[in-house]
Amino acid sequence: MPKNAEIIAVGSELLTPQRIDTNSLTITHHLNAIGVEVVAKHVIGDDRTRLSDTIRLALERSEIIILSGGLGPTEDDVTRDAVAAALGRKLAIDLQQELILRAKFEQIRRPMAAINLRQAHLIEGAEPLPNPNGSAPGQYIELDGRAVALLPGPPHELKPMLENELLRRLRKLLPGEVIKTRSFRLTGIGESDLDTLIAPVYTKYDNPVTTVLSSPGDLSVHLRARAATEADADELLHEVGDPIAELLGVKVYTEDPDESLEAVVGRLLKQQGATVATAESCTGGLIAYRLTEIAGSSDYFVAGYVTYSEAEKREVLGVPGELIESHTAVSEPVAAAMAEGARRRGGATYGLSVTGYAGPSGGTEQDPVGTVYTGIATTEGTRVLRVRYGMGRTRIRTLAAQFALDLLRRTLMGSYFHRPHM
Ligand code: ATP
Repeated sequence: MPKNAEIIAVGSELLTPQRIDTNSLTITHHLNAIGVEVVAKHVIGDDRTRLSDTIRLALERSEIIILSGGLGPTEDDVTRDAVAAALGRKLAIDLQQELILRAKFEQIRRPMAAINLRQAHLIEGAEPLPNPNGSAPGQYIELDGRAVALLPGPPHELKPMLENELLRRLRKLLPGEVIKTRSFRLTGIGESDLDTLIAPVYTKYDNPVTTVLSSPGDLSVHLRARAATEADADELLHEVGDPIAELLGVKVYTEDPDESLEAVVGRLLKQQGATVATAESCTGGLIAYRLTEIAGSSDYFVAGYVTYSEAEKREVLGVPGELIESHTAVSEPVAAAMAEGARRRGGATYGLSVTGYAGPSGGTEQDPVGTVYTGIATTEGTRVLRVRYGMGRTRIRTLAAQFALDLLRRTLMGSYFHRPHM
């Protein structure tokens, strides 16, 4: 049986707008790596009753409970008390811990107030977890295949204790399991359309666990499989991942969770010995910025022309003035001429252009705010795609840059496509 975990972050300060619970992210990261799923997280203020109620509830549902914070010496550090109450166990001073604590105070040549002795209290049956970076020890309690751990709040105390003390104890508790992951990064589809498309596949399985992450124009699907052997985990990832890959097709730009779209474009350009020059209007250099974020991009990125004014579109890119006059600067022929101009001027294999209305003002009846023309000039000719994005200047610019990079990627892959949905 796989084990599930709940995390309880303790501290009234975590309920204010000034502080955020980051410890649970560290804990989740490490738990996932040993095959433990985090099924709930709680943030509870310094309130004994509320905290012990939460601990009792978590214990009814999950096998591993990890608490962070509230191990200080003061009255409002209630974690020890609340765990003892929830488990119906006594809390008593531990002589060994008292000695360790006194030695720590001696080392920093500070008198120890009586109140500090609270930090030497151990819950009946708990194993202390040494804290070389602070005063309060952590505590670890095992109860018939389940575990409760108390960790200190300060991240620089919690992290080493988690990594050096707690994880190996939890590992012993787990069945011999391996965890393997598979990820798809994709673009050209909205989050709800993505879910409608793939939910019929992944909802049939609890294992692997499937999660979808989304930011404007960029999505990822993660599968995490738990199994007795590596081969079994791989089989599960194939069983669920292969049909998902087939449904998503060319929308997937990589299966490497750390590879960005611009990195993929760079890799393809390099493989093909091709180069690119960009001509940007409403994206103001975003595409060039992203392409040059990648180390080694000088191998394939020739130039980025940010031609915001009509005059510069004419001067730098050689867009004919009549074209702008008769069609406006935001139009299919101008996007085509910009892409061709960038390609010609940069002496590049590909010219990539963007012209559109990022808003909030501007636009025409035919091409309202959010309309963006993206052009790509190649050795075989020029294509322009018109897309209309939702509102919001930043969003429009982000989506337009993403789309242009994806248009280049698809072109490099020899995949012709029509209107995207973002
Ligand atoms: P100490 O023994 O040092 O008093 P503690 O276990 O009592 O530690 P808290 O007093 O609850 O810990 O928290 C100390 C500090 O640690 C907080 O002010 C905060 O900066 C940080 N901290 C506590 N909990 C979290 C959390 N969940 N995520 C990130 N930081 C936290």
